[in-house]
Amino acid sequence: MRKLLIGGNWKMHKGIKETEEFSKVLLNKEIKTEGIDVFIAPPFTSIPTAVEIFKDTGISIGAQNLFWEEEGAYTGEVSSLFLKELGVKWVIIGHSERRNNFFETNEKVRKKVKKALQKDLNVVICIGEKEEEREEGRAKEVVEKQLQEGLLGLEYNPEKLSIAYEPVWAIGTGRTPHPEDAQRMHSIIREILGKKGEEVRIMYGGSVKTNNVGDFLKQGDIDGALIGGASLDPDSFAEIIKIARGI
Ligand code: PEP
Repeated sequence: MRKLLIGGNWKMHKGIKETEEFSKVLLNKEIKTEGIDVFIAPPFTSIPTAVEIFKDTGISIGAQNLFWEEEGAYTGEVSSLFLKELGVKWVIIGHSERRNNFFETNEKVRKKVKKALQKDLNVVICIGEKEEEREEGRAKEVVEKQLQEGLLGLEYNPEKLSIAYEPVWAIGTGRTPHPEDAQRMHSIIREILGKKGEEVRIMYGGSVKTNNVGDFLKQGDIDGALIGGASLDPDSFAEIIKIARGI
């Protein structure tokens, strides 16, 4: 049985003060996380604050990116060593915003995944087709290429690596696929992953809110949700966690 995984991707939102404010409200709700895994990925600069506040709460802290080298002349990049030093447990790699705005290729994704796994971080690799690719009937081909090239030659423990299927046209738009269409894609992704696919957790991401998360999580091959906008509001993030625990 795969444990449900709920992740909040704050993107470039919430500095230290707002992280403190969010956490105060969330923790006041005395949310329970037993039986599921929950992480929040704040911006790098808010990570130390978040790690401190969420210590022993059942909510782990993730990063939204890392670099594949550990040290050196790589201006502006962040090493896996520094993330480990802060107490980071999760890392999101290959989010579509990084692929599209910062030219992150499948090869770069693979190098980052390799380093993150080497450092015993829990990895979430984001994949998903763009709207035009979907319209051209190429969604499966696109995710297959992202997976095959992103994982090429990598040995991994399926407990440490999760996939987030995030159709790009659904991210931040309020539009979502029908949960059964998402389920079909998750099942295809599981097949592409082969034997390990049975154990790998595949999250759905793209405009997940309190009013639709239950319908996604009820699907047999949807093992969690990666949440952008709705994770910024402590009330809705707490409600999503509560719904996930009830599935
Ligand atoms: C995301 O950023 O991964 C995401 C799914 O965003 P949103 O929930 O806002 O669509």
